[in-house]
Amino acid sequence: MNIKLLKTLIVNIKNSFKCPKCNKKISDNELSLQKFTNKTALFKNSCKKCKHKVKFEIQVLERKAKGLGPKVTADDVLDVKNFLDSFKGDLRDIFKKK
Ligand SMILES: [Zn+2]
Repeated sequence: MNIKLLKTLIVNIKNSFKCPKCNKKISDNELSLQKFTNKTALFKNSCKKCKHKVKFEIQVLERKAKGLGPKVTADDVLDVKNFLDSFKGDLRDIFKKK
């Protein structure tokens, strides 16, 4: 996963993700990146208000455009998997176009 995409992901998450327990918007110092690889990014959010912790992994599927080579955008983030805690929302919503 390239850094540009990773930054896009983080911006999207911060703009749209809320604590699943108390509904507070997350802020910079609550969201942390646990690890990332070519295809996945594992995030952790520790809510300062209600102390709820949630981990989520985002999987990136690359789309190859003809003549342009591999190109990854936030739109290519098609799968969100491995909700490790009690997160019940659908993170995919935050990547939908508005
Ligand atoms: Zn909370």
